[in-house]
Order: sequence, then structure tokens, then C-alpha cells
Amino acid sequence: MFNKILIANRGEIALRVIRACREMGIASVAVHSTADSDAMHVRMADEAICIGPAPSSQSYLHVPAIISACEISGADAIHPGYGFLSENAAFVQVVEDHGITFIGPSAEHIRLMGDKITAKDTMKALGVPCVPGSDGGVPDLDTARQVAGDIGYPVIVKATAGGGGRGMKLARSAADIDSAFRTARTEAKAAFGNDEVYIEKYLGAPRHIEIQVFGDGRGQAVHLGERDCSLQRRHQKVLEEAPSPALDADTRARIGQTCAEAVARIGYRGAGTIEFLYENGEFYFIEMNTRLQVEHPVTEGIFGVDLVREQIRVAAGQPLSFTQDDLVLNGHAIEVRINAERLPQFTPCPGLVQTYHAPGGLGVRMDSALYSGYRVPPYYDSLIAKLIVQGRDRPEALARLNRALGELIIDGVDSSVPLFHALLSEPDIQTGNYNIHWLESYLAREPEG
Ligand code: ADP
Repeated sequence: MFNKILIANRGEIALRVIRACREMGIASVAVHSTADSDAMHVRMADEAICIGPAPSSQSYLHVPAIISACEISGADAIHPGYGFLSENAAFVQVVEDHGITFIGPSAEHIRLMGDKITAKDTMKALGVPCVPGSDGGVPDLDTARQVAGDIGYPVIVKATAGGGGRGMKLARSAADIDSAFRTARTEAKAAFGNDEVYIEKYLGAPRHIEIQVFGDGRGQAVHLGERDCSLQRRHQKVLEEAPSPALDADTRARIGQTCAEAVARIGYRGAGTIEFLYENGEFYFIEMNTRLQVEHPVTEGIFGVDLVREQIRVAAGQPLSFTQDDLVLNGHAIEVRINAERLPQFTPCPGLVQTYHAPGGLGVRMDSALYSGYRVPPYYDSLIAKLIVQGRDRPEALARLNRALGELIIDGVDSSVPLFHALLSEPDIQTGNYNIHWLESYLAREPEG
């Protein structure tokens, strides 16, 4: 097992990893920018090293600084968290070249799944159902027109290197394809430095359902059911729950098994998420994330496992600590993502948190790096807290969420908390009757949130 793990991240996810390290008796090293000197992860880790100025390109994304921090501290492994360098195959290569263990999949698997076209081809070959679409990249406008016509409108033009909901353009009819193709390419070039795009059938009212998988890197893999992340704004998840109100046990077992077999066959190591759109009883693969997800706590809740501990074990060459039969789903969990932002425009709203009080009690988990007197810096993602609740069933989890939101105090910065209060009184949320467009329509109807 490792002696010391460096966490190449910040915020709540850095705390999450430090906590797992502490329970396993492993020392932890925090890295931070000058803007994060007073951050909670710096205070909580066993050691902390400043790796650069505020902009993430000069700190949390600055590979030489992170490698030096490892060498100075003597850390023998790096946990990347999510975002930043977590899905950067070149980084993984550098880490391994320095004799340090990367806690995550191989560079090869990250590369394979990071390119959405090769990811889709691979999944198709492994028997995973995919969205109908172009065979690979679409090089020019003529091909785009032809492919879109063959698939049938509406279609969506997507960036091969895409992520974070960017570089996607909808074409409802042939009249839209020219501009959708051009804009998607321009945006993809600007955001990812790669203008390759592909085209998919646009699904009208699907749910976003993702399967958590876990592989030991030696051909064994399990699945931990699904998370329903259909409540989205601008393709970004806002609330996640497990199990999905839309799946029954048979469907879950079938799609879970397909996914577990697929990752077992490629010898995948560590945690991964296979994302699908789900419509009319059919699953359509859209992408695989080769890292821990923001919303992993809902899965931890209903299966009673520690996914970060498992990532660390598997990276150290130990076998999975559970078999598929050990994984029994229990109850219902919901996570809400609390951002420092001002409604109704969702404008980022950094600043001084005068008072912070976390909710507690049965079935409540608060993953946050906030404290009273903390100043939320303007340089990074606006996620400041994840509130996760769990109950014996969905109604109990909803009631608990309502109760916990009522106890939460974040004074000084605006947050998305009022949105969740409002959502809880919506009949569709109470019954679980929503798809990926529900939240956008709701916000258009109720601009006050
Ligand atoms: P990203 O990597 O940018 O998150 P994804 O491929 O995961 O991109 O898609 C993000 C979201 O975009 C999905 O959850 C869904 O809301 C929407 N989306 C993607 N592909 C389609 C499609 N073929 N039809 C309808 N909506 C889609």
C-alpha cells in the first residue's frame, strides 16, 4: 500500500480523498495555488505545498509543479480527483515515467475514451448500445448534409474532444445543418484545440442515466447500478439520484452487466462511468468518464461502499474488495450541487462566506470545503458544496432533502439553494417524472427559480 498520496485537486473533492487516506492510514499531501492558501484542503492534509499562482494553468494544471511537489514530499501516488488533470493521458504518462502511481486507469484507456469517436467505436464493438450517428468524424459540410439526411433530423453536431457540455449544436432540420456544423467546429477549435466533429441522432426527451463501473485492471469488473442525472442546465448536472425512478431491477441488472463485461474485456482499472441517454426503454451510449464523478456519493450511499478507498486499493494492485453479489442496493440517495451563483441568471458569485452551518442528522452527508470566514475565490469552478441525502425510499429521501436544505446556512454569497427549495414543491420532481429538458423548461417558465 502507498505511504503518501498527493492530491492534485482542491475544494470538496480534495477533502474527500484526504478523508479516505486518513481512514486507510496513508499520509496526504495537498497542493494549492496562492489563491487557496487558506483553503480547507490545505488545512486538513498532513502536508501542503504551494504550486503556483491563482490561474489553474499555472497551478492545478501545471504538470512540472505537481511532479516536483511529489518529489519534494516523497509521495508515491497521485489522486487527481475530477476535472483538472484527471482525464489527461499525457499527465498520466509523465507521472508513471517518474515512478509515481496514478490512481486511475491507464493512459491508454484514458486516451481511448477521451476521444468520443474512438470511445463510441470501442463500445459498439464491445456490445454496448450507441446513439445512431456518423461513422467517425465528419470532415466537411457536404458530408455533414448527407450524414444528417441519412440519420434523419433532428441531429446534434458534437465535438470529438468535447466535454463539459460545450461544442454541441442542434440542427432541427436541413435548414440548420450548415450553421450547426460551422458553429460546432469553431467552438470545438476554440475550447479544445481540435475542430473534429461528429453527428448523432438528437433524442427528443431522454433521461441521462449513467452506470458506475469498477475494474481491477486484470479482467475483473463489477457495476454499481445507475445514477439518474437528467436534471441539467446547459448540459450540466444539477441534481442526481440513485436508483433512477425510470428503471426496474431487471433493466438495471441487464445494462449493468453489459457495462461491467465491456470494461472487464478491455482490462479497465479503477472507477469509470458509462453515460447513456435512455428513451422508450432503450439505452444509447454517449460517453465514458474515466475518473471519479462529482455525483459518486449517491452510489456510495445506496451500496454502502467507499469508492475512493477502492480506487486507492486497486491502484496499489489489490483485488476489488467486493464481488457483484456483494453489491446489494439499499434505499434511495439524492445529491444537489450547490454553486456560488446568483439566480435567476446563475451568475458566478464568489466572495466572503460570513456564516456557514452544515445540516446533519440521519441520512445527511455534506461534502464541502466551506467554513465561516472563507472567501470563495473567483478563479475556479463555482461548486461549493454537495448535499447528499439518503432514505429508505425516494419519498423519505425527498423529505430529508427538504429538511436538510432548511438547516443549511451559507451567508455572504448567493447560492443555488433557493432553486432546490423551489424544485422540491414541483409535482414532477416529487414523482420523478422528468427528462434532460425538464429543468430548462421549468426555468423558462419560472424565471425567479
Ligand atoms: P459532455 O462530454 O460535454 O458532457 P455528453 O456527450 O456527455 O457531453 O452530453 C452531455 C449532455 O448533452 C447529455 O447529458 C444530454 O443532455 C445532451 N446530449 C448529448 N448527446 C445528445 C443526443 N444525441 N441527443 C440529445 N441530447 C444529447
